[in-house]
Amino acid sequence: MNQFDLKWNFDNSYITLPDELYAFQNPANVRNPISVLVNQNLSKLLGLSADFDDIATFNNVFSGNKLPTGAEPIAQAYAGHQFGHFTMLGDGRAILLGEHLTPDGKRVDIQLKGSGRTPYSRGGDGRATLYSMLREYMISEAMYFLGIPTSRSLAVVKTGEPVYRQKVHPGAVLTRIMSSHIRVGTFEYIRQFHPMEKLRAFTDYVIYRHYPELKSSENPALELLKKVTEKQTELIVDWLRVGFIHGVMNTDNTSICAETFDYGPCAFMNAYHPKTVFSSIDSQGRYAYGNQPAVIQWNLAVFAGTLLPLIHENEDEAQKMAEEVIDAFPASFNQKWNAMMCSKIGIESPTDSDLSLIQELLKWMGEHQADYTNTFTDLREMLAGDKNIDAVYVSDRFKTWMSTWKGRLNQNSDGIRTAQALMKKTNPVVIPRNHLIEKALIEGENDNLSFFNELLEVLSKPYDEKPSNILFTQPPLNGDAGYQTFCGT
Ligand code: AMP
Ligand code: MG
Repeated sequence: MNQFDLKWNFDNSYITLPDELYAFQNPANVRNPISVLVNQNLSKLLGLSADFDDIATFNNVFSGNKLPTGAEPIAQAYAGHQFGHFTMLGDGRAILLGEHLTPDGKRVDIQLKGSGRTPYSRGGDGRATLYSMLREYMISEAMYFLGIPTSRSLAVVKTGEPVYRQKVHPGAVLTRIMSSHIRVGTFEYIRQFHPMEKLRAFTDYVIYRHYPELKSSENPALELLKKVTEKQTELIVDWLRVGFIHGVMNTDNTSICAETFDYGPCAFMNAYHPKTVFSSIDSQGRYAYGNQPAVIQWNLAVFAGTLLPLIHENEDEAQKMAEEVIDAFPASFNQKWNAMMCSKIGIESPTDSDLSLIQELLKWMGEHQADYTNTFTDLREMLAGDKNIDAVYVSDRFKTWMSTWKGRLNQNSDGIRTAQALMKKTNPVVIPRNHLIEKALIEGENDNLSFFNELLEVLSKPYDEKPSNILFTQPPLNGDAGYQTFCGT
């Protein structure tokens, strides 16, 4: 046994749940595992900080060739609504090695993604391309540094085996860390296919694992619905804050602990437009940037539906109580969104009347294809007077908006200074821009990670001053014309 192995601290609670919830499944052996990325920062947080000196063991563990001590690998069962349609799913290419307890007592899932077929693979090959695992690594880490709840990426190991998509790609396994992979779809699966006792046992487990403070409440299932609603509301507001488009907000990709995950066709918006969508399969724009609040409400309504028998024994009563929670979503969302947007423009104590200031700015941005990230940085710099006014900001309409805005900032406790501080911590100066990610991934797929690592480093300080190299803050010259993202690659 080596030192690295000794640091694992597995305590696998999911396998104490009813068998129908998972299938024991070992990861597939891969031919020639070679490490590509190791997340030192995360490994320290997990208490796995030991030396990764023994590279052969590292490669074997993070490719699935060798099980770490204490791992009891499973694939999890779940269902979900994909683009509105109910389907049976399950981990088709992911294997949960187990739950690891971190030094600060946090329980996290350690999951390998791209590690071979499982009983839930349907027609899929269970594999992942190096390209898509690098993409998930980069974007999930960027989200973490943006301060947004997310799964994280611990390692990427090349398998030495080809993966066949439109063309042949190098295969890879990503190690994903998350508070849990329990989804709205997990509840849907149990509610649809299993008796009430199992739903009850599972709900108790989820409460115990994620929201123990609800255990002794009068109606834990209803409180769980409220809590998940509240946390998902905050998450979506955070996505909108930075211009993130998840791309495939199916109910199976909506997590109960409200962390962003399943970074398939996600992307960041450059030019502001609420209808922005990049996913190749989302022709109707169901998961477009501005539709994400409506979608999460829909997903939460599905979640509510699964909990009904636990909320009240009388179906009508249960329905009424759940509806109350879901119906309260728009008002609560709008209030949080309004506060967030007010912070983006430096308003300290938001009021309802600030909404028109925000709407007017967004309208202007939409009409001028203004860059969502840079506009807010520019506004902050213009406040300080240390920016030359770009041509785009010289119109009378914009000047009028500016003067109303500045007038409003006088009401802050310390006027413009308060605004600048608030804007600095709310508005990232760098985001993972699509064209930069593409460059990093194409080079990374060809074993050149220097730009990948450089970009990752820049993205790890998104609220600092602008990086000296303007490459990292500039949108692509031709906008995002033709840019498309793909699921499950
Ligand atoms: P996603 O779009 O990544 O949320 O995946 C939807 C479903 O398809 C999940 O059940 C995945 O496990 C499954 N899936 C995606 N890609 C593959 C693959 N290459 N092999 C097997 N199952 C897959
Ligand atoms: Mg998924």
